[in-house]
Amino acid sequence: MSMRDFSSEHFVLEDGSKIAVIGGGPAGSFFTYFAIDFAERMGLDISIDIYEAKDFTCAGPQGCNNCGGIVSESLIQSLSAEGVVLPSKVIQRGIESYTLHLENGSTVIKTPLEEQRIASMFRGFGPKGNTDTNTASFDNFLFGLCQEKGARVISERVSEAIRTADAVTLTTKDGNKARYDLVVGAVGLNGKALSLFKSICPSFEPPETTKTYISEFQMEPELIDKHFGNSMHVFLLNLPNIKFGALIPKDNYVTLVLLGSDINMEIACSFINSKSVMKLFPRGIKLDDITPCKCFPSINVKGAKLAYDDRVVLVGDSASSKLYKNGVGAAYITGKAAANAAIFNGISANAFKKYYQPVCSELDNDNKLGKFIFSVTGIIQKSHLLKGALLSMVISEQHKASHKRRMSSVLWDTFTGSAAYKNIFVRCLNPLLLVSLVWNIIKSTLNLIFKKK
Ligand SMILES: Cc1cc2nc3c(=O)[nH]c(=O)nc-3n(C[C@H](O)[C@H](O)[C@H](O)COP(=O)(O)OP(=O)(O)OC[C@H]3O[C@@H](n4cnc5c(N)ncnc54)[C@H](O)[C@@H]3O)c2cc1C
Repeated sequence: MSMRDFSSEHFVLEDGSKIAVIGGGPAGSFFTYFAIDFAERMGLDISIDIYEAKDFTCAGPQGCNNCGGIVSESLIQSLSAEGVVLPSKVIQRGIESYTLHLENGSTVIKTPLEEQRIASMFRGFGPKGNTDTNTASFDNFLFGLCQEKGARVISERVSEAIRTADAVTLTTKDGNKARYDLVVGAVGLNGKALSLFKSICPSFEPPETTKTYISEFQMEPELIDKHFGNSMHVFLLNLPNIKFGALIPKDNYVTLVLLGSDINMEIACSFINSKSVMKLFPRGIKLDDITPCKCFPSINVKGAKLAYDDRVVLVGDSASSKLYKNGVGAAYITGKAAANAAIFNGISANAFKKYYQPVCSELDNDNKLGKFIFSVTGIIQKSHLLKGALLSMVISEQHKASHKRRMSSVLWDTFTGSAAYKNIFVRCLNPLLLVSLVWNIIKSTLNLIFKKK
């Protein structure tokens, strides 16, 4: 944590200062939680209003923030270091392994370090029609933490933001107005909400996005145990536009997530109807009959530019995220960093540039390596030979000590988002991993030649 450094005395938070957070998803909640925490440590008396248009206690779109619902190991560890433990009702299932499916076979990969776990959860109160009282919303849990710390939740949509000489005034859809010393944009990728910032943050360029796909399959927990277990099922299939598909088991739902570029219903159907996917479900089941929800949400594929100005800062998906993975973890990183900058360094554009922007730039630069890693994965996806080599390498690694399962741990971190892409990239260059990969490619080539004969 940095010492208080106010280069511009005019733009500082003082006793009585008011902050508005627009959007109560993870980024808004993490900002709020840490801003209040840091202010308490400084003996600074500030107040925070969180504006949130959704009701996370409702099932379906009204309470949903469209997400696969995987909480990464790194986020669980960071939260527990802060003393925040996810309640058991929020955790739908502890994920102990993932199963990699390719057209030519599948294999189970256990967590690289046996004690580490990832969890699956629902951001709201589950899919449309959910009545399971064992479901508790992740976003609502974060909200609760903020309220316990003294934040006020205003269940209204912000529809206008106007800058005045020494403040920003917000107006809600219901016509209520309030004046704030700092406004935090945590509106996700909502285009209309992002355009609110045009007038108060004119240099801001919103993030670039692409369409993804999510659907839910409702099944009895016993059937999910039998067919999916506590494993996240990851698919590397040679299908157009799809970089990555996953089936994530929850308590009585299985969530399907498809990431790639501009996924539409036709592409999603080609995935769902593929042999590798269908064979996982109970025979004869009609998937359409057990699908209460499907949607095509946007995902951040390139960070925003200049996501700050005097008295304004944007966090989470509205600013920078982690490419394809662990967006909630990235919301934690940016939310906390912006809170740190605002409380300890001031709320001028210069303070955010110096103390917040570097955190966004680090995520953006890491995503460049992520793009490269996913383009290599894309090449593997299209090649029967390389997929054969990858599969035999991962299968043979499962008999080795965990520190020798190099390819498995690279794949684990790529698919769960638990490590920075830079870290994954460096591990890919390990000579022992490369030698083993080449050896497995040779073996696969020979296999193919002899099979043909
Ligand atoms: C298909 C898919 C799968 C994903 N899977 C995962 C996963 O498994 N794990 C993971 O970590 N991440 C995942 N992500 C990414 C993750 O969902 C996002 O990175 C994360 O939600 C970003 O949090 P946020 O708080 O920035 O934005 P959001 O979660 O989008 O929250 C924004 C909030 O702002 C509110 N809001 C918007 N406008 C207004 C307004 N004008 N007034 C008041 N409120 C407003 C919205 O109602 C919303 O609650 C996935 C994303 C997609 C698309």
